[in-house]
Amino acid sequence: MALSSQWVRDWVARSAQHISDNRTELIRLDREIGDGDHGENMDRGFKAVSAKVGELPADASPSDVLKTVATTLISTVGGASGPLYGTAFLKASQAVKDHAELDSAAVVDMLRAARDGIVSRGKAEVGDKTMVDAWSPAVQAAEDALAQEATEQQVLAAAADAAKAGSEKTDPLIARKGRASYLGERAIGHRDPGSVSSALLLMAAAEVSA
Ligand code: ADP
Ligand code: MG
Ligand code: MG
Repeated sequence: MALSSQWVRDWVARSAQHISDNRTELIRLDREIGDGDHGENMDRGFKAVSAKVGELPADASPSDVLKTVATTLISTVGGASGPLYGTAFLKASQAVKDHAELDSAAVVDMLRAARDGIVSRGKAEVGDKTMVDAWSPAVQAAEDALAQEATEQQVLAAAADAAKAGSEKTDPLIARKGRASYLGERAIGHRDPGSVSSALLLMAAAEVSA
């Protein structure tokens, strides 16, 4: 079933819940190879996002909700991930402009635009040990599912599974972008925190029903 703007609101709420539940874990991961603030940054950001989305008028479109997520993340998260997630949601918002509801193709367009926004902003490639290692396989899996005529929920499930697997694959990598890149080989054996938060957002999307 096509996804309504209420679905986007529910996605935001579920994302905020997952980020809050994993705040300590994200802090722990960022302590290993960064400065330890990722869980705090994201939790602050998604709490603000929940409040802002709650203030939107009832007739706000999916694109309107995504735009509010973007602007709120940009103004509250800070660090490297704030502008990256902000850009992701801004591009996602633009990709589904004029859609009252999101069908499978629109869901794929939304995810691809988010990933492309992160890549154009941060210039990371797959294998650089960043959130791109979650997003790129997620988009690939979503595109593959769409080609198999998957439903919206199946597209999201495929994306979430691939994001989680992609995040796990950051463990043995040396980071080539962000703070972790200063560590060289000392980053080996640690999971990239931004890839974990990205997988949480995509898992939230897969869990919310239409
Ligand atoms: P900061 O490093 O400024 O403290 P955060 O801790 O909030 O910011 O976010 C760190 C995460 O941001 C990393 O785990 C990584 O996934 C992501 N990141 C950092 N630089 C880039 C980049 N150039 N491209 C994509 N993702 C990046
Ligand atoms: Mg940090
Ligand atoms: Mg920081």
